Amino acid sequence: MSLSDLTRDFGGWADTTFENPPIQAYGRKLAHEVHELNNDLEDFGMNADNPDRTNIGAELADCLLVLCAIANRAGVDLEREALKKFEINKGRTWIKQADGTHQHVKKA
Ligand SMILES: [Mg+2]
Repeated sequence: MSLSDLTRDFGGWADTTFENPPIQAYGRKLAHEVHELNNDLEDFGMNADNPDRTNIGAELADCLLVLCAIANRAGVDLEREALKKFEINKGRTWIKQADGTHQHVKKA
């Protein structure tokens, strides 16, 4: 199954199951799922000898599925947009931030 198929299938299922919520509700759900994933990543990082990645996998899936619901509702080809953004990001210069993340250098 391609990402486009998943977007269409999950998006259709979610719209039906959750009675066509406003797209903003999907945005709030995504924020909730990202928060859960971040909590699991923090826990995993503090217990790096724990090989159990079950929760991380489940939370990654939750995030992806909600992204699919949003993309389906917005009419966005998520796979095409991700590949396009990947190419853009590869061409950027990145600077490490104090919190361990990286930020691209903004062009003047
Ligand atoms: Mg979750």
